[in-house]
Amino acid sequence: MRWSRLGAVLAAVIPAVALAQSPPAPGSRFVVVLDAAHGGDDAGAKLLGPDGSAELEKDYTLALSVRLRSLLAARGISVVTTRESDVTLDAQRRAEIANHAGAQACLSLHAAMSGSGVHLFISSLSPAQHATFVPWKTAQAAWTPRSIALAGMLNSALAHSGLKVTIGRTALTMIDSMTCPAVAVEVAPEQAAGSSGPSGGIGDSAYQAQVAEAIAAGLLEWRATTPAEGQNP
Ligand SMILES: [Zn+2]
Repeated sequence: MRWSRLGAVLAAVIPAVALAQSPPAPGSRFVVVLDAAHGGDDAGAKLLGPDGSAELEKDYTLALSVRLRSLLAARGISVVTTRESDVTLDAQRRAEIANHAGAQACLSLHAAMSGSGVHLFISSLSPAQHATFVPWKTAQAAWTPRSIALAGMLNSALAHSGLKVTIGRTALTMIDSMTCPAVAVEVAPEQAAGSSGPSGGIGDSAYQAQVAEAIAAGLLEWRATTPAEGQNP
């Protein structure tokens, strides 16, 4: 039985499990999922805007998603977003959107007032063999090696742009259910690599543009190195 048919049958009878994703056909398009974290009832963290005014994380992540989407679209990359407005979305719905997209990269966008530079997070799930179907909450386990590779590429692009970057592993519900190379990108206030000076504002538009450009450059690099045969680990 072909994967897709098997998938349809299993998805119909076992809604509690996520199916391992079929590889895309050779030459299929390169798709990036942008997940603007938080939204609606979930405001996320309180941030400081460029003029010291308060800004909510949910608004910041949506603005970053919109900015990144246009940068990627201008480079011929197909983008699927989890939200385009201030709506409440739970982690499961976000993962459903991402998994349905058959993406080669899934980025969950966050912002924080603590720390500096850009924090990249990969799922803390241990790598697992691809199974016919896998428990929804640990679906990312099979993808962690690819997610680590994606984070490495984003790290290079951000560092190349002069931004400070840290990489960590953590349990993130929306990413742990994703069946794609997935990285959470958390933007913290600016601080040049190696600098001990005061941090610049997170809402500074030049800083936002620099972060978005660097992420786009990293994804272009990722596209160049992702085999056409697909994104399966
Ligand atoms: Zn967040």
